Amino acid sequence: MDKNRCMACAKEGAFEGGICDPCKALIRGEALEKQHQIKKDADRSLHKEGTDIERKRDR
Ligand SMILES: [Zn+2]
Repeated sequence: MDKNRCMACAKEGAFEGGICDPCKALIRGEALEKQHQIKKDADRSLHKEGTDIERKRDR
């Protein structure tokens, strides 16, 4: 009884957490992307006034 079934793609195999490695990577990647987007949105609202000045300084 070592076999599990992936909750995401229903593949059978031995893996931890009920999700196979490819699906784990996918879900992890999606979670990371979501975090990045949330961070970006937060940064945008935080530095709304600062970004234009910083860009001008770079040039
Ligand atoms: Zn899977």
